[in-house]
Amino acid sequence: MRMRWNEKIVLITGGASGIGRELGFQLAKKQAFVFLLDINAEAVEKAASEIGMNVRGCPLDVSDRGAFAALAQKIHSEYGRIDCLFNNAGVSLSGEVRDMLPADWDRLLNVNLRGVVHGVEAVYPLMIRQGFGFIANMSSISGITPLPLSAGYNTTKFAVFGLSMSLRSEASLLGVNVSAVCPGFIDTPMKDNMKYASFEKELAQEKLPFRLQPVEYCARKIIRGLEKNKAIIVITPPAVMLWFLYRISPGLFGWISRLAVKKSHAIRKH
Ligand code: NAD
Repeated sequence: MRMRWNEKIVLITGGASGIGRELGFQLAKKQAFVFLLDINAEAVEKAASEIGMNVRGCPLDVSDRGAFAALAQKIHSEYGRIDCLFNNAGVSLSGEVRDMLPADWDRLLNVNLRGVVHGVEAVYPLMIRQGFGFIANMSSISGITPLPLSAGYNTTKFAVFGLSMSLRSEASLLGVNVSAVCPGFIDTPMKDNMKYASFEKELAQEKLPFRLQPVEYCARKIIRGLEKNKAIIVITPPAVMLWFLYRISPGLFGWISRLAVKKSHAIRKH
């Protein structure tokens, strides 16, 4: 039976912008009680008040383990349950490993990977106690295919994918569903917030190989996938195609990736 969203208590990290904000909007329309959590306190407050309905904004840095646990505990005590956690907050970086600084690695690992781990640590025990709930972890097409020029970002997204698939089998025996969400290229502020380690931003954006897909479409696909309790939700046709190509021929995928890296040397800023 398809799950229903009305009166579900839903937590969405990275909820001030992009995919997280749109998920909040679409779920609020389905009568869920939505908590948008974001490091940007002002933006998350604004997003919650713009969406209105049953949406609240709370400041949270997902890389802060204690703060995540305390907030989850508070919401759980107040509402008696947490039905759904979207570990969605993320940062990105495009460029070669040789151009990355130690601080770049720390930021990617702390937000994209530790942030998800902290969410699981904070909410999964509460869901086990309840005997129900689901956790959707934001991986990416970069978490199932090693796209070129984003090894740092891919590292975190592959790890999130691995965590999600292993946790799914354990959690299903305890009443908790876990899914990995793997979008392709979506039109959100991420392209502007992204750090470009090897190239000038404008040049890199011009060379994007795929058209960005609307965030509304992405959120709709995520919600539909979760309603069906899909293990892996891959979004956008080019992402499905890339994933397929990598699985049937990793060698060919590697050859195409090397060509892309070689071509990118023409626009390197170093
Ligand atoms: P976005 O930049 O629009 O939103 C990301 C949000 O995360 C922002 O509101 C930001 O303030 C918040 N955030 C950053 N660091 C945080 C922290 N430490 N604690 C709490 N919040 C923090 O980006 P988006 O495109 O909506 O991305 C959402 C997720 O989807 C990310 O995990 C991203 O990696 C993933 N994703 C995006 C795309 C895409 O093409 N946009 C594709 C695949 C996966």
